[in-house]
Amino acid sequence: MSKVLILGAGLAGCEAALILAKHNINVELIEMKPKKFTPAHHNPNFAELVCSNSLKSIGIETATGLLKEEMKLLGSVTIEAANHTRVPAGNALAVNREHFSQYITKQIKEHPKIQIHTKEQVNLPATDYCIVATGPLTTPTLSNEIEELFGEENFKFFDAASPIVTSESLDTSKIYFAARYNKGEADYLNCPLTETEYNDFQNALINAETASLHDFEVPNFFFGCMPIEAMAKKGHQTLRFGPLKPVGIRNPQTNENAYAIVQLRKEDCNGNLFNLVGFQTNLKWSEQKRVFGLIPGLKNAEFVRYGVMHRNTFINSPKILDAYFRTKIRPTLFFAGQITGVEGYLESAASGIVAGLNLMKIIQRKRLVPLPQTTMIGALAKYISSETKDFQPMNSNMGILPPLKMNIKSKKEKYMALSNRAIKDLTNWDKECCHFNFTQK
Ligand SMILES: Cc1cc2nc3c(=O)[nH]c(=O)nc-3n(C[C@H](O)[C@H](O)[C@H](O)COP(=O)(O)OP(=O)(O)OC[C@H]3O[C@@H](n4cnc5c(N)ncnc54)[C@H](O)[C@@H]3O)c2cc1C
Repeated sequence: MSKVLILGAGLAGCEAALILAKHNINVELIEMKPKKFTPAHHNPNFAELVCSNSLKSIGIETATGLLKEEMKLLGSVTIEAANHTRVPAGNALAVNREHFSQYITKQIKEHPKIQIHTKEQVNLPATDYCIVATGPLTTPTLSNEIEELFGEENFKFFDAASPIVTSESLDTSKIYFAARYNKGEADYLNCPLTETEYNDFQNALINAETASLHDFEVPNFFFGCMPIEAMAKKGHQTLRFGPLKPVGIRNPQTNENAYAIVQLRKEDCNGNLFNLVGFQTNLKWSEQKRVFGLIPGLKNAEFVRYGVMHRNTFINSPKILDAYFRTKIRPTLFFAGQITGVEGYLESAASGIVAGLNLMKIIQRKRLVPLPQTTMIGALAKYISSETKDFQPMNSNMGILPPLKMNIKSKKEKYMALSNRAIKDLTNWDKECCHFNFTQK
């Protein structure tokens, strides 16, 4: 009789364990708490919410609202627990974190197919079916094992993510596509700054407020990438010789050189999203909106992800995983949760459901069917498994969904249409294999 080893009883590990157990598969869940805690975990129960107690908006026309609806359709224990332990929070789904973790822990402990082992896992099991879901603070010994298996270049201890904006929110009258020295395709969008604009931006940047980090979260800049605000503080002209270097880029219409240039690079193949190249930052999110809004073309930019730099263990999933969250080198070894480069409570939990479902199908010799890319979960799975230059974690957002066939002007209506399409496609997905309660409201 097959059994699955799941490492880590966080949000992803618990979702995967229950999905497998509900499909009659034996699970051995290995969790080191309460014997040992990461620097962010304090509660002896499973599925701990380490920081905020909010699972974000419930509006179906929002990215997180859609993700929750999809997870509910797939039988998520996170959503079930959240609905049972909800506290008033307006339009958000917030929970009593203690009751939330207790609810999930009880489900796990009472399930006859799940066996719990309280210990730190220090190696990767060589042969068994296994899902690694040890999270952003995976212990050093296991981290070293993973790093050894996939190579140093495919394992990261910190994220250094630049902000990402939607292309439709950019003022295209102020910016242009061009390649430096006309070399290669003109893939980058360029935001030109005059000397006065540069001075104002530089000044705002060095005086902006930064987010406070826990000691264990502070990145080591030895890793070769410095926050843009720290770079700006090194000298008034430093940015012009770094990420805002203007040389070799002319405005294709006027043929002029700018005093400084901010470059935006495509984040997805649809061209819906662009990241600000070299803008990894620790500024508070409100400050990022204010200060980066001074850049020509970005005044009304919609940020789908703000820049972050903190302690975050994750693998280079595009090289390591396929869209089933399965490793390419060993089809019985899966990863799930934040360690795969999805970002956030819900996203981590959702990836646990997908990994669990796919491993269940492999064990039951059923056909693997990719999730529709029009769904938020499917789009995240595609994102983490698609080739990219500098892979950084991603949260759910409407920008990662493929565009609609028709053009809808109103943002709210467009998001509603994207959500309706996602729910419809998920409801029709893989009926042969998965029998979920798709009629549930
Ligand atoms: C400090 C911090 C704050 C965050 N705040 C938020 C937030 O407010 N909102 C949000 O949406 N996201 C937040 N995140 C991001 C992320 O969504 C959460 O970390 C989320 O809990 C990830 O889920 P997971 O299941 O991948 O990992 P986790 O929930 O971290 O679960 C991993 C489990 O594995 C265990 N484990 C680790 N190593 C081993 C080992 N070697 N052997 C056995 N067990 C092990 C851990 O004890 C833990 O229980 C935060 C992350 C951090 C680090």
